Amino acid sequence: MIGQSSIGDNDRLLTLFTKDFGIIRAFAVGAKSVKSKRGGATSLLSYSNFIIDKKRDTYKIIEAAANKIFFGAGSDVVVLSVAQYFCELCTYLGPQDDTADEFLRVILNSLYFMIDKRKNPVLIKAITELRICAISGYAPSINECAVCGSNDTENMYFMPDNGIILCRNCKKGKEIFLNKTILDAMRHIVYSDIKNLYFFDIPEKDILALEKITEKYIVIQTEHRFSTLDFYHSVK
Ligand SMILES: [Zn+2]
Repeated sequence: MIGQSSIGDNDRLLTLFTKDFGIIRAFAVGAKSVKSKRGGATSLLSYSNFIIDKKRDTYKIIEAAANKIFFGAGSDVVVLSVAQYFCELCTYLGPQDDTADEFLRVILNSLYFMIDKRKNPVLIKAITELRICAISGYAPSINECAVCGSNDTENMYFMPDNGIILCRNCKKGKEIFLNKTILDAMRHIVYSDIKNLYFFDIPEKDILALEKITEKYIVIQTEHRFSTLDFYHSVK
């Protein structure tokens, strides 16, 4: 569950990110009532099984059972801000009326590694931004220099406007230098099997540089202003 709004005293309209249908909005009748059995399963950032009734374009939740609820008490505010940003990524880029298998797996895994495994939220944010770009039609082409085909990994530069890399000889000036660690990390994030996606480590200074690049890339490519990023930057 990635978003909600109240309707009347007891009902809510929930935004769900589902494996089979992508993003849907569904009514939860009585979900606010304290006695409701659905309380946990319909709380923000819960991962739940739903039985949903569809009449014309309206979805109504009949039954819900929580598999996992992210966020215990006392969560870190930076972690919280990144998680909210992930919800906005889903709402804006998640498939609508379509299966969402890999997208959903990336988001769930990112939440798991960030919250349960306490991996660096800045690194998890960078991984998520770049991988979500790759599976949403904005995959960068970072195997070799886009002009001459060189793969001189010590001297590569990234162009976030068109998602290509250029070597030292072909660059024109405004590109972002990628040291080998960052270039290797970007290649891993874009091309690795999802089961290996989170298993790499880079030094803190490279994490910070990588995250600047992936954020710039997703904002430029989607031409979207993510309001949750403002909160993230205000608490970081
Ligand atoms: Zn070149």
